[in-house]
Formats: sequence, C-alpha cells, structure tokens
Amino acid sequence: MHTKTLHEVKELINKKEISCVELTKSTFDRISKVDDKIGAYLQLDEEGALKKAREVDEKIQRGEETSFLAGIPMAIKDNICVEGLKTTCASKILENFVAPYDAHVTKKLKENDAVIIGKLNMDEFAMGSSSENSAFKKVKNPFDLERVPGGSSGGSAAAVAAGEAYYTLGSDTGGSIRQPASLCGVVGLKPTYGRISRYGLVAFASSLDQIGPFTKDVEDCAHVLNVIAGHDSMDSTSAKVEVEDYTKYLNQDIKGMKIGIPKEYFAEGLNPEIRGIIENGIEVLKKLGAEIKEISLPMSKYALAVYYILASSEASSNLARFDGIRYGFRAEDFEDVVDLYVKSRSQGFGDEVKRRIMLGTYALSAGYYDAYYKKALKVRTLIIQEYKKAFEEVDVILTPTSPTVAFKLGEKSNNPLEMYLSDIYTVPINIAGVPAISIPAGFVDGLPVGMQLIGDYFKEGTLLKVSHAFERETEFTKVKPSI
Ligand code: GLN
Repeated sequence: MHTKTLHEVKELINKKEISCVELTKSTFDRISKVDDKIGAYLQLDEEGALKKAREVDEKIQRGEETSFLAGIPMAIKDNICVEGLKTTCASKILENFVAPYDAHVTKKLKENDAVIIGKLNMDEFAMGSSSENSAFKKVKNPFDLERVPGGSSGGSAAAVAAGEAYYTLGSDTGGSIRQPASLCGVVGLKPTYGRISRYGLVAFASSLDQIGPFTKDVEDCAHVLNVIAGHDSMDSTSAKVEVEDYTKYLNQDIKGMKIGIPKEYFAEGLNPEIRGIIENGIEVLKKLGAEIKEISLPMSKYALAVYYILASSEASSNLARFDGIRYGFRAEDFEDVVDLYVKSRSQGFGDEVKRRIMLGTYALSAGYYDAYYKKALKVRTLIIQEYKKAFEEVDVILTPTSPTVAFKLGEKSNNPLEMYLSDIYTVPINIAGVPAISIPAGFVDGLPVGMQLIGDYFKEGTLLKVSHAFERETEFTKVKPSI
C-alpha cells in the first residue's frame, strides 16, 4: 500500500477493496518499520487517527458522501497547530507546548475527514535547509540514509517519499517546501502568499511564510490544494480570491504556452548534471508544444541577501514571544525576570535560531535600520516589479529547484553561508510572493532532482497544468526509494 498515491488509495476505498481503518493501520505498520531509520515523525496519534478512520468507514457504510481526502492518512509539519497535540517546531523551547486550537488548515482537513496521523520533524522554527537543526533528531533522505532530506520541511518530504503518509503539509518561507521536495523526489507546492491562511502556523517570517502540500504526484497536489486554499478572517493577509477546482487543470494540453527560462538561474554554481536534467525538462515541454523563451531576472542576484535580512528581522520580532513565561521551556535557576528571559532563551533556542535573532535584531537596530532593513525592502519592491514584468511575457518560469542533489549529513552544517546557498533558486519566489512548484525531473547517481515552475499571482492552476503534462510524459514521480 505504501507506494500508492492518494488518488490510487482513494479508488480502492471507493471500490471497498480496503477500509479506512485498514489503510490507517497499514500506514502505522509502515512507520514502525522505517521511521527508526528516517526520523520523519516527532509525534504519532494512533488513537485519534484510528478513531477518525472508523468514523469515515461508518459514513461510507451509511452511504454518505465523503470528501476526496476522507479517511486517508496524512501528517503535518510540527509548526502547524493541531488541537491537543504538541506543536514543538522541533525546538526545546516548545518541547512541551500542546496546541490549544487548530490552525485554519487543520480545521479544513478535519472538516474533510482527513486522518491526521502525526506531527513531522523539521529544522528548528523552520530555519535551515537540511533538517539537521531539529533539537530532537535528524531526518534522513529515504533515497540515501547518509544524506539529508533538505529542509526545513525535511520530515514532510521524507514521510511522503518513504510512504509513511499519503500526503503532508509543510511551510515555505524561502524554499522549505520546494527544496526538500526536490531532494526527496516528491511534488511540493508553495502557493501564492495569501492563498492559504497562516492562522495557526507558528510565525517565522510573516511576510514570506506560506503553507503548502507535499504529494507523490501532481494530481494529488491539486486535490489537497482544493481543500486547504481559501480566505480566512483569522489571517488578515489571507486573500479574498475565489478557490478554483484545481483538478480542472489536470490532463490539459500545454500547446502554445509560453515558458520563460531566466538566464541568471543557469549561471555558475549550478551542478552540471542538474543543469543537464533541467535542460532535458525544457526539451520535454518543447516537445509538448510549449514555446520556450529566454528571459532575464537581473535582480535575482540580490535575492539571497534581501531574504536573510528580511527573514531574520521578522524572525527576531516574531520569536520575542518565547520568553520562558508564556510557552514551553523555562530555565530552572534564575535571579530575576530579566535573568529568566535570558536563561530560558539561551538554553531553549538552538544555534541557528540564535544566529537569526541576532542578525535580525542588528538589522532592525536604530543605527542600521536604514542601511539594511529599509534597503532590503526597497530591493524587494524591485524584485516584485521584475517578476510582474516577466509574467507580462510568459505564462510560467522554469528553473532548477536546488543547485545540488541531497548532500551528506554534516556536510554543510558547520558552514551557515554554504547552507544558505541551497535556497538560491527558491527565495526570490517568496520575496515576490508568487507561487512555485517543484516536481521530480530526473536523477543523478540515484538521487532525485527537482524542476521548479514559477507562476504569476494566484495562477496555481497554470503550474499544475504544466506540471501534470510534464509528469504524464516523464513519469519520474513513479520512481520510489528502495527503503
Ligand atoms: N532555508 C531557508 C532558511 O533557512 C528557508 C527556510 C524556510 O523556507 N522555512 O531560512
């Protein structure tokens, strides 16, 4: 069962060849077989999952209509709240924090009878590109257990790749859905900023964060997006834009569509084998009738610098709330209230989180605000304008997702700057707020390589249309790790 997609198991449920309880049990079996090696899960809720599965089986027996996601096991990144379960953000500071409410996406999933089986490992507070920054344990790549799954949603990507869930949710602030999707050979979508409510997502950088799905193929991605997208009055940045039925973009012809190739994304630093795979991908789309056009996005070279100023600044502000008083961890010995804050934060946060808080506090301080934060905001505007202009000419922009395949555990963890470079192709998209998807496009020495497609604002449908055409032609999504 674990190699099947969401839509394939849905069909088995519809044909009554398997019950939701059986499916849920088989997923827990799979987890107990492989998760010692993978480390994708921080918490499991077998009792809650089986209860839900039983309810759905009863609904089906009564002949009631059920949602597409009903009865199918899925899991959620541990920075998204599920009432009654812990939300740790893989941080010691939230180790014992039990969410008192559901995130908007969780509520939607529950309304659609999704079977939530657990919470997924990640880089602490979603900061990182390898999932090695988890305070609890490291996640391994199912294609090679000596390599990282990418990050920060490494648990979400690895769980889908290893068949430990039929789909998962992650969050993407600068690439944390697309980069691990690329490294684990699964589909990952970062929707337009505002497409999905951030209510109940623990904030990292509020102007960049967006929740999105990890799935085994493009069809599944459309089904999950159908459920989690939409306006929410609890998130003032969530957009009042109608939710389409995204499945209508599947099985469409892409003849005549214009695909832009930004030359800056194929410059130095890109692994030549990955370049070859992406160039093959371009040929596939050409063969399907798409028109390929070289474009230029010259501001891209500033994107990484802008991202690390803005994301760290917002993080330093957002993470001020973790003070040892209101949530989770509190230091044991302290002299006064200031000492309590300092000790709780010093002991509770990991190194990368502290690095970001210091960087952000510095960029926001009186003497440096204009030179760093304000300057970064101005360059952000230029990047936004550049993307808007590009989409006057093309329907979709195609790039690599990651400059490298999955790297070895420990290879970059002592060099933060090198780790930051993992996001060079993904951060501009969050800065602009446009949607982008990573889809499997090939392999280098048995390791997956993802191709990134970027769309205009709220054009998730267009991304799914091109991705699905590519997937039908290439079938890379069918390749599974041997674990
Ligand atoms: N790797 C990037 C960072 O460390 C992006 C993280 C993310 O998208 N959450 O900030």
